[in-house]
Amino acid sequence: MGLSADGLTEIDGAIDASAERAFAFLEHLVASPSTVFHEQDAQAVVGAELRRLGFSIESLEIPNAVGLDEAAGVPQDDYGGRFDVVGRIGGSAGSGRSPLLINGHIDVVPADEPDLWSGDPFTPYRDDGWLVGRGAGDMKGGLAMATLALDALLATAWTDGVPGALTFLSVIEEECTGNGTLAAARAGVVADAVFLPEPTNLQLLLSGVGVLWVDVTVEGLAAHAEMADRAVNAAELLTPVIDALRDLEREMNSAFEEPSMPSVAHPYNVNIGLVQAGDWRSSVPAKARLGVRVGHPTEWSPDEAEKRVRAEIGDAAAGHAWLREHPPTIELTGFRAEGYSIDREHPFARAVAAAHGAAHGNDPEVAQMASTTDARIYMNQFGIPALCYGPRGRNIHGIDEAVELRSIVDGAKTLARFLIAWFEGSGR
Ligand SMILES: [Zn+2]
Repeated sequence: MGLSADGLTEIDGAIDASAERAFAFLEHLVASPSTVFHEQDAQAVVGAELRRLGFSIESLEIPNAVGLDEAAGVPQDDYGGRFDVVGRIGGSAGSGRSPLLINGHIDVVPADEPDLWSGDPFTPYRDDGWLVGRGAGDMKGGLAMATLALDALLATAWTDGVPGALTFLSVIEEECTGNGTLAAARAGVVADAVFLPEPTNLQLLLSGVGVLWVDVTVEGLAAHAEMADRAVNAAELLTPVIDALRDLEREMNSAFEEPSMPSVAHPYNVNIGLVQAGDWRSSVPAKARLGVRVGHPTEWSPDEAEKRVRAEIGDAAAGHAWLREHPPTIELTGFRAEGYSIDREHPFARAVAAAHGAAHGNDPEVAQMASTTDARIYMNQFGIPALCYGPRGRNIHGIDEAVELRSIVDGAKTLARFLIAWFEGSGR
């Protein structure tokens, strides 16, 4: 089965014709800042767009008990009033079509240095074919790519409805725990495969490293600055802690490798993402804190990674005159993500690659990134094939983050072909 060349031309035409509408949806999304705890305005925008396309919408509660799940990250406070959005369309029971899930995250990372941006991070603007704004790349552009493909299919090949069960899930906390996706999957929002339109530059992203979030707090001895020579400056105590983390990073990168990402020279990055100490220039700070993201080998479970971090910092403290008596406090504060990967020759990966080939005339490359995505939860906890494929982003998590608008259209043409093959094809 499948579609004639004329049918595909018609779908591509509908994608081109609806592109501006998808860009407007994207702009609306970017203008709805959805940093952690503030996700719901943007979720409402997603819900409205899915409803317009004919999906039935449900706000899915995330139980606080998700934090007790062995696969959970450490919850970022209370989940009350913070929902995933689930859209469902198509699929009568016994139709024989395999259900599919599209998963995107609505949360974005903060943009707390707006003065470094060319404009307000949450007031999207276009720049030579790119849309600039926090979250435009990661990954609101991907959500727009997916709705654009569906919009075009529903206006052409699927005027009678989606020929199979399609679920569209917009989750929270992908950037810190993965608990939005985990809670939805535990609640039964799953399918036979999961497509995540993360920003991959129209490449297949098939794997991720382990990621652990830890905060390290040290206590010194506060004093007036005039007697700083007899006090213990907590900010300066961070130096041996950072040195220990750098040692761990060096050890991981020399002793391990990620078979799924041979072209990544340095897969395990230990990132000092937050530094906090002090409140006055003439006071010696009593406390200091690091917020750290530890990329670690897929061979290590989250518990193993935590053990190694504690051991490395513990060893450094034992050799330090003050820290020996005042050991640093180490606590987990988010990600407890295992590494994952899906084989390039898995039928699902081959099907997405074939759709890309049909749309663009070449085999998609395999992206290799030393990060993680929610695909790991489907792969590791549920045995469900999952992969990422989406638009081209720029300055992800950085200043003047952007998405290339053309790549949203190009990605939608791939996704439309994949969806037809998935729901109407026979060679799966
Ligand atoms: Zn993302």
